[in-house]
Amino acid sequence: MSNTLPLYRLQQIDSRLNQVNSRLATIKSILENNAELKAALLQLEGAKSDQRHAEHVLKNAEYESSNQRIKLEMAESSLYSGRIQNPKELQDLQKDIASLKRHLSILEDQQLELMMSVDSSNDALEKTQKEYDLTQGRIVSGNATLQSEYTTLQKEADKFNAQRLAVLPAISEADLSLYNSLRQKRSGMAVSLVVENACDTCGSSLTPGLAQSVRTSNQLVLCPMCGRILYSN
Ligand SMILES: [Zn+2]
Repeated sequence: MSNTLPLYRLQQIDSRLNQVNSRLATIKSILENNAELKAALLQLEGAKSDQRHAEHVLKNAEYESSNQRIKLEMAESSLYSGRIQNPKELQDLQKDIASLKRHLSILEDQQLELMMSVDSSNDALEKTQKEYDLTQGRIVSGNATLQSEYTTLQKEADKFNAQRLAVLPAISEADLSLYNSLRQKRSGMAVSLVVENACDTCGSSLTPGLAQSVRTSNQLVLCPMCGRILYSN
């Protein structure tokens, strides 16, 4: 009887360990790079900056209108104060007042437009914030499931690593090195089961003599087709 049972055991453990590690890597990458959330955050930051800009422009316009109103009040108060008697000066002052009024009316129109633009940037921000919150909520609840799967898989990986350590002492160094090199060359499968006198991995039929020696030989028997270590249970 050959010593392929521990090798076969090792193969089973390593195959499971491969699946677990590959899933762990996938989850890790999902958790670390969520493109959707990053995109939503970018949108939100854009909307915040648009809204701040609109408010800033409105503040400036309000300041300008208020200065204009003060200038107009001062001009009107000197017009009605009676201090200016010279008709030419009075005429000039009246012209100034008319011009100040025209300009103030333009500024007030602009201000109204800017107020509307602040309103619409507020609406846009609110909408983007809602979308971001929804995306985040969805990803967080999705991640909670992933997070718990990750923890479970990590425990499984620990278990398989412990089983691996337990089976290794039963395998000679030479066999282990053959096993490792076969795993590299043969898509992770170094040991193949013999089922109905055929290699279960590549399907190649074995002569009755070869199948017999898989069961009885003290030496490792390799599949003549794929070169994998044959194991018969
Ligand atoms: Zn084979």
